Amino acid sequence: MNIILLGPPGAGKGTQARRLVEERNMIQLSTGDMLREARTSGTEMGQIVADVMDRGDLVTDEIVIGLIDEKLSGDAAGGFIFDGFPRTLRQADALTRSLEKAGMSLDAVIEMQVDDEALVRRITGRFTCGSCGEVYHDETKRPAVEGVCDVCGGTEMKHRADDNADSLKQRLMEYYKKTSPLIGYYYAKGQLHTVDGLAEIEDVAASIAAVLDGTA
Ligand code: ADP
Ligand code: ADP
Ligand code: ZN
Repeated sequence: MNIILLGPPGAGKGTQARRLVEERNMIQLSTGDMLREARTSGTEMGQIVADVMDRGDLVTDEIVIGLIDEKLSGDAAGGFIFDGFPRTLRQADALTRSLEKAGMSLDAVIEMQVDDEALVRRITGRFTCGSCGEVYHDETKRPAVEGVCDVCGGTEMKHRADDNADSLKQRLMEYYKKTSPLIGYYYAKGQLHTVDGLAEIEDVAASIAAVLDGTA
């Protein structure tokens, strides 16, 4: 199965994608993670990407489509989870073409609905493990032992440079202007499923599982 997790910054896409990787052997393709890796490369492209991301703007379609295309070949037994991609209609069209070329198709688009007020709390409380990328939250998902990752035992926790109120405002604006039209686009294609992203992490996971198992 190949699926898209669609939702505003902080909706819980990364959190749920990581679970699907564990539970269903799927492959997470997060353009945000790929771009964060690119920005540490020290190249000119990395610097341009860093400035755009820190402002909360979208990186150009060409760059992210190129990143995704590189990953679509090869074996994907459990299927791909597109996390944070596509974010524009152009990216959505490019994805359709790339999947076709690779002999694959899209099985479901899962929209995670969360209201804006909750997003501010989600984003400002988010931190991740520097070693394995596990996602935590100051209030809703703390590690069992303070400062120690539950998954890998790592002790270096990181806050993202763009997880501040100013950048979030811009990221939300970009989401509503450029990404939210994808909801109508995939609805029209008959591929849209909506889940309540405000529910507890476990309950959101159950709603997504129901979609994947064809019961929703
Ligand atoms: P979030 O967790 O807030 O949804 P991501 O980690 O997916 O954020 O993305 C962080 C930033 O990386 C975005 O604000 C944007 O600048 C850039 N980015 C990620 N994915 C894309 C994409 N598909 N198209 C354009 N820019 C992207
Ligand atoms: P996205 O990838 O969509 O930007 P994340 O998965 O990084 O979102 O989640 C954003 C923040 O909200 C993280 O700190 C995460 O621990 C927390 N979070 C994710 N899902 C939930 C949920 N269902 N309830 C409460 N907090 C959540
Ligand atoms: Zn870890």
